[in-house]
Amino acid sequence: MLSILRSLVQEVNSARDLQEALDIIVSRVQKAMGTEVCSVYLLDPASNRYILMATEGLYRKAVGQVSLAYSEGLVGLVGSREEPINLEDAPSHPRYRYFPETGEERFRSFLGVPIIHHRRVLGVLVVQQRESSRCFDEGEEAFLVTVSAQLAGVIAHSEATGAISGLSLTGEEAHDVSFNGVPGAPGVAIGSGVVVYPSADLDVVPEKPTDDIDQELALFGASVKAVREDIERVAKRLASQLRPEEQALFDVYLRMLGDDAMPGEVANKIREGIWAQGALKQVVQQYIRHFEMMDDHYLQERAVDIRDLGRRLLSHLQEGEQKHLNYPERTVLVSEELTPAMLGEVPKGQLIGLVSVKGSSNSHVAILARAMGVPTVMGLVDIPVNQLDGKELIVDGFEGQIFASPSSDLRSYYQAICDEEDELIRGLEVLKDKPCETTDHHRVSLLVNTGLMTDVVRSLSHGAEGIGLYRTEVPFMIKDRFPSEQEQREYYREQLEAFAPSPVTMRTLDIGGDKALTYFPIKEENPFLGWRGIRVTLDHPEIFLVQVRAMLKASEGLNNLQIMLPMISNISEVEESLHLIYRVYHEVREEGYDIHMPKVGVMIEIPAAVYQIRELADRVDFLSVGSNDLTQYLLAVDRNNPRVAQLYHSYHPAVLQALVRIAQDAHSVGKPVGICGELAGDPGGALLLMAMGYDSLSMNAASLPKVKSVIRSVSREWAVQLLEDVLLLDSPHVIKSCVDLALRNAGFGRYLRPGKSAATAVSEAAVS
Ligand code: PEP
Ligand code: MG
Repeated sequence: MLSILRSLVQEVNSARDLQEALDIIVSRVQKAMGTEVCSVYLLDPASNRYILMATEGLYRKAVGQVSLAYSEGLVGLVGSREEPINLEDAPSHPRYRYFPETGEERFRSFLGVPIIHHRRVLGVLVVQQRESSRCFDEGEEAFLVTVSAQLAGVIAHSEATGAISGLSLTGEEAHDVSFNGVPGAPGVAIGSGVVVYPSADLDVVPEKPTDDIDQELALFGASVKAVREDIERVAKRLASQLRPEEQALFDVYLRMLGDDAMPGEVANKIREGIWAQGALKQVVQQYIRHFEMMDDHYLQERAVDIRDLGRRLLSHLQEGEQKHLNYPERTVLVSEELTPAMLGEVPKGQLIGLVSVKGSSNSHVAILARAMGVPTVMGLVDIPVNQLDGKELIVDGFEGQIFASPSSDLRSYYQAICDEEDELIRGLEVLKDKPCETTDHHRVSLLVNTGLMTDVVRSLSHGAEGIGLYRTEVPFMIKDRFPSEQEQREYYREQLEAFAPSPVTMRTLDIGGDKALTYFPIKEENPFLGWRGIRVTLDHPEIFLVQVRAMLKASEGLNNLQIMLPMISNISEVEESLHLIYRVYHEVREEGYDIHMPKVGVMIEIPAAVYQIRELADRVDFLSVGSNDLTQYLLAVDRNNPRVAQLYHSYHPAVLQALVRIAQDAHSVGKPVGICGELAGDPGGALLLMAMGYDSLSMNAASLPKVKSVIRSVSREWAVQLLEDVLLLDSPHVIKSCVDLALRNAGFGRYLRPGKSAATAVSEAAVS
């Protein structure tokens, strides 16, 4: 059975379109089950009717002609009950509905199973048999349920492919079909889709033999030629902007690509019977090891060039032609998995929207997008990415949905939202230099989270009072090796200088989980529970010490540095880290730098830390809650997984109770406590946190003006009452609605997501 299923899924996956996929399904299932009829009915979202899309056994002419209302007939019954229905004598069932066009009066037994994808009924798969004595047995029912569960994703994918091209299930024109994901960063963008692929990864290339050596040699030869041409073209384009010694780098690359250099060795390996990609991987890795072991710094650096060349060759081998991307003025970047480096490649000012198949609202790339103020939709799992290239796209980052090739009505609707947002943001500019204080004079510090230099510029213009979280991993992620101490010092100095004398809180490297460095891969079964944050850097003191040294040196003369430790789960991690920080502090002072010992704090983002607040606070100067991770660990919901995104709820009563406790315990030992997770940048969340007594709220720059205007308009007493009310509630959804209602009543309805769905608004507009 398993092998039938496997080959069925494979065949369906390689079908050219939805119709071919459905035809394959009905013919293979009919054969495998030895039945007379197998048919697929799909639910057409436009008409809300089940349409007979493919059949083996009923009259073919009925395909596309026969349809049933949502709850009509046995098909409708299977769909609305969302479970299989197995009948020995279908015509005697009160819900039986007969269609003469199909010729189904001949068949008596009926087994129908729903096709469900992410809780949505896509259609119904039916098998039928002539003799009434044949009731489908349990095994057959289980087989059909398995087939349907396996195929639901493929069907959803093919359906989406048609919809992107503006076609309904029946091949008619269909406009403004929305594709739903998870909101990543708020706002609306209207622009052109540019699909990008992750850079080729040599480390994951499998070792395989080849029995067509000539073909592999030819493929490899073509890749070398293409990469040579790429490099020559880039060298020519940049010739006028580079000094001669910089131009010489291109000559080094071209020499490395000479026949008797690396390509010659790869060709020899291919001749030994290894496929081109595997041979390339072996040779490149051998070169890298060789260069990295050299004492001479210049030669060590050549390992980076070799790795880069290896990647370029690999991407030509994998995709044939490497694509040269032309970024339009209004680029919406689309990818299976967006990375910070991809964002960095779009020319300045041209990136207006982001779409990612993988990831969820609290993935790090979504956080980065929020910091940059770029509307983003994550977790669009069923979207055929390639189809979006060059299409006009609307990205609705409030609702987490996108539209391809929109109608002019839909475009105008969204353009109006963009204009309204711009106006709102301009209106808030007057608050820039005003304090963040409630009407009854309770003061809260509003800080920003940064990672890139652009964040700093934006933060200053929004009136931030300091940096509450500088994610140092961001500059690490956009390089292809660890940045040197000097490079790090330059990055850190930029941040410290921009805000001096206000505090700048630098978090030590927090990699692992979904934050990967291409040059330091961590492969784990369960990365969020694995080697992350402080665990990695304490195991690699050479990384930690260099980083702290760079931070301390960068702070000379400014003295506004604070150091923060991520992912603390026990006291000894804090003690070990403090020991290393003191050591570096004394060494740097001995080297003659005039620096002060920075304040050191820990992040509270693991449930264990919630229960040791006093012990932790006794050892450090401040605490800061990482509510993104704390929420994921308290609720056991992967922050990066769109499948469980609806369970990730920062307003969950358990999360709120934990936040209350942290603030109380920290204050009971006299230590300040802030929060730097995304909840701080949510106007409703910020109100609750202020009421809990958090001393500072750190958020992305784009959220800051809204949060400030809300806090300045209410009294602390009012917010405390709201907090007390919601702490009595037991459902995250009810809590969220209650906070939203309070915001609306206080006049901040515009800060919430637009109330109506776009489709409703457009159809209303069309009717009026
Ligand atoms: C958090 O976990 O809330 C946090 C601020 O850290 P990060 O999102 O970078 O993991
Ligand atoms: Mg975290």
